[in-house]
Amino acid sequence: MKKLAILLVALSAFGVSAQERPQAPDADKIAVAIASLPRGESVVPVYHEPHHRMLFAYGTTKILEGQLPPGDMSWFHVHTEPILYITLSASQQRTQVLGEEWGGGAAGRGAAAGRGGTAAGRGAPPNGAAPLPAIRATSTTSYYDHPVTHRITNAGDRLFRFMVVTNASAGDERDESSTDAGFAGVPELANRWFRSYRIKLAPGESTQSHRHSTESVIVQVSDGKAMAVGPMTWELGEPGRWAWFDSGTVHEIRNVGTVPFEAIEVEVRKPVAK
Ligand SMILES: [Zn+2]
Repeated sequence: MKKLAILLVALSAFGVSAQERPQAPDADKIAVAIASLPRGESVVPVYHEPHHRMLFAYGTTKILEGQLPPGDMSWFHVHTEPILYITLSASQQRTQVLGEEWGGGAAGRGAAAGRGGTAAGRGAPPNGAAPLPAIRATSTTSYYDHPVTHRITNAGDRLFRFMVVTNASAGDERDESSTDAGFAGVPELANRWFRSYRIKLAPGESTQSHRHSTESVIVQVSDGKAMAVGPMTWELGEPGRWAWFDSGTVHEIRNVGTVPFEAIEVEVRKPVAK
């Protein structure tokens, strides 16, 4: 957003000659795209886009929930922070980067390029590999270096519903290992900004009491009832319910219902104090 504003200010300061704008080859395209937006519509940070509702913000962490009904379209919004998606209900989705044509409508594409998800759990995976879970975490970290402005539309016939965690910190640049997680667990996804773990609990079962060296966000991905209990208590009762624990705080998750419970726990990684 800030970058865009600076770009436009620079544009008007330079006048209209292309030679005077050596560093902004796309400035014309972007200016035209913004000028052609429907009245009242603007480019907003993702957490101000109405289909991405912010549920929680603390420091550099944000939790958003996203809902896009069939046929609906988001506003253009800017991603400047690494993001992790958990798609609870996939649909066929198309993306348009500001100033470009609409991208393809592959059903396997997630909330932005490279996150996939829709096809997971359907049909046989290549090479006989174990099938991927139907609901899993995917992440786009390139926004940290290259912010992207785009909008999305639901071209399918089902509600597109997702949960999002964003991390505006510089991440933990040391490596992607989980040796410092603070507890024993094998992440399904690990990068400089996030690690995610799958938690499966039978009725009556609990996780060990544990802590993470990072903040953690728990997102329910199945039916069932559970309690996430630490310094705060969170009641989980349907897919998309969530809990948050600050770094270093001891907590556990208890299945208090009558059916299997499943959640994805996300560690939000930050630079480690030297
Ligand atoms: Zn935990």
